[in-house]
Amino acid sequence: MGMAFIAFIFLILVALYAFYFFTKQNRKVADATLPAVDKNMLEANVVFYQKLDAAGKVTFENDVNFFLAHTRITGVDTAVEELDRLLIAAAASIPIFHFKQWRYYNLKEVLLYSDTINHSFESKGAGDRNILGMVGSGVYNNMMFLSKASLREGFSNASDKHNTAVHEFVHLLDKADGDTDGIPELLLDKQYVLPWLNLMHDKMEEIKAGKSDIDPYAYTNKAEFLAVASEYFFERPELLEEKHPGLYQMLAEMFEVEKEG
Ligand SMILES: [Zn+2]
Repeated sequence: MGMAFIAFIFLILVALYAFYFFTKQNRKVADATLPAVDKNMLEANVVFYQKLDAAGKVTFENDVNFFLAHTRITGVDTAVEELDRLLIAAAASIPIFHFKQWRYYNLKEVLLYSDTINHSFESKGAGDRNILGMVGSGVYNNMMFLSKASLREGFSNASDKHNTAVHEFVHLLDKADGDTDGIPELLLDKQYVLPWLNLMHDKMEEIKAGKSDIDPYAYTNKAEFLAVASEYFFERPELLEEKHPGLYQMLAEMFEVEKEG
């Protein structure tokens, strides 16, 4: 009788301790927030962030924080400054902003180069515009290569429809289903796949015929079309909607952007 009572008390104490321990852990995660200096840097450099309301900013900050906590960023021939870290994390967060939960499980490390990346990497992954950025494959799987110059340039000009880092993260989303083929199966319901293929075909023909304001690099292949069109979508959404309503609609569907009003 006495022993059973002592065992009972012991179990209660263990349960209380476990409860205390786990709530404390949870609080620790919830408390992790971006330092004020980083928030100011986002405000000064990331137009996408500037346009968000207060609640949206908190979500974005949490995404940035999570990304930085789980991704190594290494300078190869250049120093990684705090601004670089934030811009890379911002570029990762922009395409997934409207998703409830998305983690870049297929990325472990970002390698930052001062400028155009060594061409010996060219055959190792999806090469881009003289290699301003690249998503690795094979032995370079789970790695992204970025040029610091094009990272900075992508965020300094918010109206040119170009953002190299966002482009590379869209390749990663595309790659999450196993193929970097311009058909992001995880973002696209089955019934949209065929319409999306047809739309890409038509839009690429327009580019080929010189009748498009989409960067001709998008004509390279479907993967590049998706990445280039997504840059346009995130940098100049209103313009894209005006000039290419069907394309805008499809990308809004993929990135789960709901129209206001
Ligand atoms: Zn590309």
